[in-house]
Amino acid sequence: MFLGHIDHGKTSLLDYIRKTHVTEKESGGITQHIGAYQIEHQKKKITFIDTPGHEAFSQMRSRGAKIADIAILIIDASEGVKEQTKEAISHIKLARIPLIVALNKIDKPEADSAKAKRELAKEEILVESIGGKIPSIEVSAKTGKGVEELLELILLIAEMEDFKTDRTMPAEGVVIESYLDNLRGPTATLLLTQGTLRVGDIIGTDSVFGKIKNLENFQNSPLQITSPGDPVVVVGLEDCPRVGENFKIFSDIEAAQNHLILIEKKAPEVLEISQEQKIINLILKTDCLGSAEAIEGVIKKIPQEKIILRILKSEVGSVNETDVKMAKSGRALILGFRVVINPVAKIIAEREKVKILQFQVIYDLVEEVRKYSQRFLESKAERIDLGKVKALMIFLTEKNRQIVGGKVIEGEVKKGVSIEVFRGEELMGKGRLINLQKNKKDAEKASKGEECGILYEGDIKVEEGDILLIYTEERKREEI
Ligand code: GDP
Repeated sequence: MFLGHIDHGKTSLLDYIRKTHVTEKESGGITQHIGAYQIEHQKKKITFIDTPGHEAFSQMRSRGAKIADIAILIIDASEGVKEQTKEAISHIKLARIPLIVALNKIDKPEADSAKAKRELAKEEILVESIGGKIPSIEVSAKTGKGVEELLELILLIAEMEDFKTDRTMPAEGVVIESYLDNLRGPTATLLLTQGTLRVGDIIGTDSVFGKIKNLENFQNSPLQITSPGDPVVVVGLEDCPRVGENFKIFSDIEAAQNHLILIEKKAPEVLEISQEQKIINLILKTDCLGSAEAIEGVIKKIPQEKIILRILKSEVGSVNETDVKMAKSGRALILGFRVVINPVAKIIAEREKVKILQFQVIYDLVEEVRKYSQRFLESKAERIDLGKVKALMIFLTEKNRQIVGGKVIEGEVKKGVSIEVFRGEELMGKGRLINLQKNKKDAEKASKGEECGILYEGDIKVEEGDILLIYTEERKREEI
């Protein structure tokens, strides 16, 4: 990530690298600023985050996102350290990520790197050439001088720091950019820090969620699947996420929705007693005493071991300011049955974010309460065994990965599943299925009787004759 004072050349340097290392798409149309791009240098990928100004960076930091692995501080060598250089330095120090100093505009006759380095030293940034540890390099976005060396330095640091990404973990990352596209709707650039994303996946942040409709690389070419570290453009979120938010993958829309509800504290009426037990406070307003009694009766019948439905007040009459104030202080949900909400109460409720639900039919009210409380039940991981594969041949073994050729002897095997390795009766260890092939071609699944190739990753080495038990774990919400 490039940081530094305005006009010191961040954009120019990024542009220079992009122009010299990324083949522009033929269409050459105006592409929306997507905030990130990727180059390949010496067969290694480098992702550049091109955020306009470091405002975005501090936002990301304040949201706890670790977005970049390396910071590159750009300083105009003819100007030296400026106010925003100092700000950038404090950001970098807080982010605790490795730093490279790029002294830009070295083509200018008045460029004075030595002076800039001395000024940096005053900010406790000691570069190598004056006895410090921080690498620095003279560059010019105008002539391209030093840019190749800068890229090499980036790769060298990446190698020394041994940055790793894990494809097998559930996908998560950071929102780099987002905007509303007139035709496609909310469009976001995401940087994946771990895991992989596919079209159809459900992702969500603390403010929005959605199902991925389109997945594209930074040049807007469609993708089926992405790798960690890749910047990707995603269409399908229901709204624009905030820049700097973390996102993650969810098992289903409902899980993403629930995450939102809990995070945004849209549900102050849910009080958590423990992991297993929660209370929902209710204020009941009805048209007559008879309705009140009937409703209280059916609410009591809803099983309440996990979610306790506590009626704080039950009264005849329209929903008024007192009810709203009580709901606010007592953190309750207001249920109105065949009653109106008076206008002032409505305004206060909106302002104070107090939820009022209105009903005409008892059955609807009870169902809504039941559904509502169900949303706050913890979800449990449910294991589903899919099948068994007998390992017949091991083709390749590297670090924690192997290519295993085998035959499905029971059920079926799919992509993206978990694996338990059995030797005889004994469970030897666990791993993940990273890729699946049939006849040397990528396949979605293989069924009983078929032979397949499995790219396996795990803590235990598979041996010929082992049985791989294939299973998935889905998070399922309990029912009331
Ligand atoms: P940013 O605000 O840090 O993104 O800076 P810009 O990339 O917009 O650059 C500010 C100005 O400096 C522009 O007019 C660039 O043309 C100029 N500039 C950037 N890099 C160089 C360089 O290496 N040499 C010279 N001579 N000018 C540069």
